[in-house]
Amino acid sequence: MIPLVFAALIIAACAPSPQPPPPPPPPSLAVSVQARGLHPGELVVLTVTADAPLSAVRASAFGRPLNPWAASDAGTVWRVLVGIDLDVAPGPYAVTIEADSANGPATTGHEIVVTPKAFATRRLRVNPDFVNPPEREQARIRAEAQELERLWAAPATAPVSVDLVFEPPVPHRANSAFGTRSVFNGEPRGAHGGADFLSPAGTPVTAPAHGTVVLARDLYYTGGTVVLDHGLGVFSIFAHLSKTSVVPGDAVARGTTVGLVGATGRVTGAHLHWTLRVGGTRVDPLAALELFGEGAQP
Ligand SMILES: [Zn+2]
Repeated sequence: MIPLVFAALIIAACAPSPQPPPPPPPPSLAVSVQARGLHPGELVVLTVTADAPLSAVRASAFGRPLNPWAASDAGTVWRVLVGIDLDVAPGPYAVTIEADSANGPATTGHEIVVTPKAFATRRLRVNPDFVNPPEREQARIRAEAQELERLWAAPATAPVSVDLVFEPPVPHRANSAFGTRSVFNGEPRGAHGGADFLSPAGTPVTAPAHGTVVLARDLYYTGGTVVLDHGLGVFSIFAHLSKTSVVPGDAVARGTTVGLVGATGRVTGAHLHWTLRVGGTRVDPLAALELFGEGAQP
């Protein structure tokens, strides 16, 4: 005979229990794209919108991790910058996007189809020491290249400011020299990875966006140089300055003077050279001004 208490337990275990509600589905993600163009040297802004808050977003493209950031307090809108490096071959490239949420993970993707662009060649005459540097300068040139690589490898982990508004560093016109293949004194050298602004010597150069100064001194090729870390893997390099007016560690707001236009390093005359690096790629700074200029709202 089964004791009464035990029998009652068996009956309770067999009674139908109410069905738990089904778990909420993971958020669905939508991706929209903004870009001036999709050829090498362009900057692409992807906006990821979710129907529920996301606690984290990870993304990668061109074999590199990207740096998404939350663009809304609710965590439902995220943005990520994708640089198409100057050396990327035309064709389709996948962007993978993974998100975490209280309802579980969600994934989506996007395809960037890089279109070809023919860059012009420009022929310049400069001091021969900047085309074939003398032996005594080789160690310095190597050390400076390694120092810059170390800076790129250790960007600010938190965004200096999620307010990615860019304003021109000088009030003068830029030529369209980004990506041109340079021939110095008849010898081909690397592609021109920045924009040149035709500013007279002595023009103040201002920070195009908030940032932290990570280098401010004379380098062999770029002369008086200031490097700003804008966070999110975005760096500005200003070259050929006659004077630098900041030191490493300085936090600068957009519009702060960081130096003066000059003609130092490998130049044919006074101008401002601005290189913009986004996640290890070289993109045209003029694309950032167009996408993130004052008034532009990606
Ligand atoms: Zn230049």
